[in-house]
Amino acid sequence: MTPPDLSPETGAEPDFFQLLDQPAVIMRQDATLFRANTAFERHFGAWKAGMPFVHGMDEQGQEALQRTIRTLGDAPASFIHAFRPDALPARRWSWQLWRQSEWVFGRARPAGQMPDAGLMFQALFSSPAIGIAILDEHGQLVEVNESFSELLGCARDELLHTRGMDWVHRPDRKAVSENEGQLSSGKISRYRLTVRLKKRNSRLVWVMLTVNPIQRITGERQFLVTTENIDQRVKAERKLVQRAEELVRSNKDLEQFAYMASHDLQQPLRTISNFVQLLDRKYASQLNEEAREFIRYAVEGSTRMQQMIRDLLAYSRVQRLDLELEFVDFNEVMEEVNTNLQEVAQASTANVLSEYLPALRASRRQMVQLFQNLIENAIKFSRSEQRPEVIISADDQESKVRFSVRDNGIGIAEEHRDRIFALFQRLHEQGTVQGTGIGLAICQKIVENHGGKIWVESEPGKGSVFYFTVRKAADKSTT
Ligand code: ADP
Repeated sequence: MTPPDLSPETGAEPDFFQLLDQPAVIMRQDATLFRANTAFERHFGAWKAGMPFVHGMDEQGQEALQRTIRTLGDAPASFIHAFRPDALPARRWSWQLWRQSEWVFGRARPAGQMPDAGLMFQALFSSPAIGIAILDEHGQLVEVNESFSELLGCARDELLHTRGMDWVHRPDRKAVSENEGQLSSGKISRYRLTVRLKKRNSRLVWVMLTVNPIQRITGERQFLVTTENIDQRVKAERKLVQRAEELVRSNKDLEQFAYMASHDLQQPLRTISNFVQLLDRKYASQLNEEAREFIRYAVEGSTRMQQMIRDLLAYSRVQRLDLELEFVDFNEVMEEVNTNLQEVAQASTANVLSEYLPALRASRRQMVQLFQNLIENAIKFSRSEQRPEVIISADDQESKVRFSVRDNGIGIAEEHRDRIFALFQRLHEQGTVQGTGIGLAICQKIVENHGGKIWVESEPGKGSVFYFTVRKAADKSTT
């Protein structure tokens, strides 16, 4: 909008008025605008000659303006204008008003966007949560707050005029220097680093360091350094990583041990077993009934031990590290399992039904073993009066697929449902049902190798459902 011509009474130079970088106005005694410059327009929006100067002012503000104008004497007076455009925080302007005959002149300068910035900084500075230090351009500490002193275990006086870098643990100084370099070359405007500071007692403390350059009004360049004590967090995280590494190592050791033990035990056990059987065959006729019975126990025991060792070997072979993952069609897995279990299923007249199953990335060999163990159990632990029926199905669940193997067998009492997955845990006396109690432990290991879970739901006397999940995106890095 074009400003009205300046009245000759004001005597002001129109150009000078316009060129003023700060908002400026000429008003009448009733606080209506006669003229305003472009800086005014830029900060407060459009205006019109004759309209009251109320830009962004609440009622109280308007009253204060009127009062200031009414009481304006020869000397200029100040008026604070809390300019509050819609949806913006108030911005304060300090107007200087003066009178020249009938006209009121006004010039504004910002009184700060955050009127209580000083107070806020004060509050922040005394906050117990953050250690704050101000460094001069040579990197010397010129001010520290109490938390910073406490963090380093030093009094304020001991810290002032020391070099900030001297408090950084030597191995971490390189990272700080590199960031300093980037800061001074203007590549970055601030930086944040996790470093160790050295306390006065030489102990180290992990902190999150943030360095912000600040320009003082005097033109001096300083650095505002804030430190957040993250010592406990870093130490806890490190301990956790260490524990996880130890666990991986001990698991590996255990697998190695199980493999070696079961492998190496096989040979001497075979010798014992052979000689006990030889004893039975050759000398049974020369021994009495009691001695023959002892030999029979020894033969049975060694055979069983051989079976257990074979199973333990199988368990230790279910390694997770050498998983060969491929795209596996689970319908094909079922075909292979059915072929392997043909004899068992026929002997027990079992019905094994499989719904249509998906294809997923997995280890084919381990999946065959998993299904085979579960289905074999479903047939093995059937009720004598009931023809075994096993149903295999799959349920798509976003990031994973949940498989189930349902049977109509003897079921499992609630209190045993967890322990059956442990090594050598069985609920049956040896002799009634064959097995060593390792099948489900192998199942659990396979499922965990694929990033899933296995569990059982059951109704004793009616049947059980074994569920397990397989992650859809199971790959080597996540297993
Ligand atoms: P094993 O079959 O060699 O005994 P497993 O580890 O496969 O060893 O099973 C552990 C125990 O869990 C079994 O001895 C049995 O008591 C119980 N169990 C497993 N599957 C079933 C099932 N489908 N129904 C009832 N009980 C089961």
